[in-house]
Amino acid sequence: MFWDKKTECLSRNEMTHIQETHLKKTTKYVFENVAFYKQKFEKAGLHPDDIKGLEDIARLPFTTKSDLRDNYPYGMCAVPPSHIVRVHASSGTTGKPTPVFYTAQDLENWVNCVTRNCCMAGIRQIDVCQIAFRYTLFTGAFGHHLGAERIGATVIPTSSGQTERQIMMMQDFGTTVLHCTPSYAITIAERIREMGINKNDLSLRLGIHGAEPMSEELRTEIEERLGITALRDYGMTELGGPGTSIECLEKNGYHINEDFFYPEIIDPDTCEPLPDGQTGELVFTLLQKEAMPLIRYRSRDITYLESEPCGCGRTLVRHGPIIGRSDDMLIVGGVNFFPSQLECVMLGFEEIEPHYVIRLKKKNRLDHVLVEVETASDFWTNAPKEKIAELVQEMERKVKNIIGFRMEINIVEPFTIPRSEGKAQRVVDERREK
Ligand code: AMP
Ligand code: ZN
Repeated sequence: MFWDKKTECLSRNEMTHIQETHLKKTTKYVFENVAFYKQKFEKAGLHPDDIKGLEDIARLPFTTKSDLRDNYPYGMCAVPPSHIVRVHASSGTTGKPTPVFYTAQDLENWVNCVTRNCCMAGIRQIDVCQIAFRYTLFTGAFGHHLGAERIGATVIPTSSGQTERQIMMMQDFGTTVLHCTPSYAITIAERIREMGINKNDLSLRLGIHGAEPMSEELRTEIEERLGITALRDYGMTELGGPGTSIECLEKNGYHINEDFFYPEIIDPDTCEPLPDGQTGELVFTLLQKEAMPLIRYRSRDITYLESEPCGCGRTLVRHGPIIGRSDDMLIVGGVNFFPSQLECVMLGFEEIEPHYVIRLKKKNRLDHVLVEVETASDFWTNAPKEKIAELVQEMERKVKNIIGFRMEINIVEPFTIPRSEGKAQRVVDERREK
């Protein structure tokens, strides 16, 4: 199903033409309307007329989250506050939140992008979509809400939390599509089982999961426990929320709405652009934003681009799974790894449940990783002690083989690791000397 088949299936030449036109316009627009960019361009000895095509994008300066912080609240805006019709923001657990602004046209473009994505995931008018992302300043819930509503599906804005009530609504209203973080999907699945409800008695068929990584192993868990197809959805506040990219039903990468979001992959250390297929940091230029256009925004998310044809017929370029954020990358004893890589290894063991915490510690002044993870209740209750010890040994061996160093695995009692209703907190860094 397509929302805007013409755009989603353009030839490469046609898409390049659209991108170039908007890139030139946006470059001129930010130069004339955002003092921050005018100064940056001038410092780089650059004039908007120097940008003649996509190949010139590498001449443009990057924008980072700290630029947004430094220009709080309205410094990155290209329009006067009276033209802004909506504000969202990311959490800002430390200091001020990072806001994002929308004009009426930006909102319309946002709806268009999320509607394309909802269609790509297979949502239809007859669906009942339960939005279990949190309705707050965050963009997630509002974005999915708008897309599903534009298709004409029934939207139930339950927000996250109150899990039993969520499940009651699913039963009573025949929810077919669940929108939430992958970790909350697991929390919901677990509660469904505890409540003695058979997943086959629910009408759920599809899950749209974003805001945090979902490894293939976690996807399989969610699909089996809820009896659904689970798709990954990507977005971030600064880019305007969901609507940037989503997996189609082929599950072979996220198609990017590249007429709005021009993607690049760069080496996060040297900032040099990398060719398709190479893994690095995803960078986006917002091509059609009025309120807060961003030039070469460094997402910090690590993945690769893929432009091979897709079985769904779309020509929109894809990015691969987000393996983590460059600022979430853990460096332990000189080895780099992402929590999602560890998740893949652990969930490869059928006794293991997707509930874990990674504790980074110091032991004899050296970095040490302790992973606390739950097993299924049956295994915990019935398995002899030796069997649990064997499992720990086998997991530690596999982790060492795949990630490259030894971590200590501790199997903990079921239901002792806090359950997530939004983004799960998986890493606790206890390394700081007291
Ligand atoms: P926020 O601005 O709070 O919505 O957070 C955006 C960040 O969430 C992104 O930069 C990613 O690090 C993460 N994120 C969003 N969607 C995904 C996804 N599908 N897979 C992995 N991480 C994601
Ligand atoms: Zn596709």
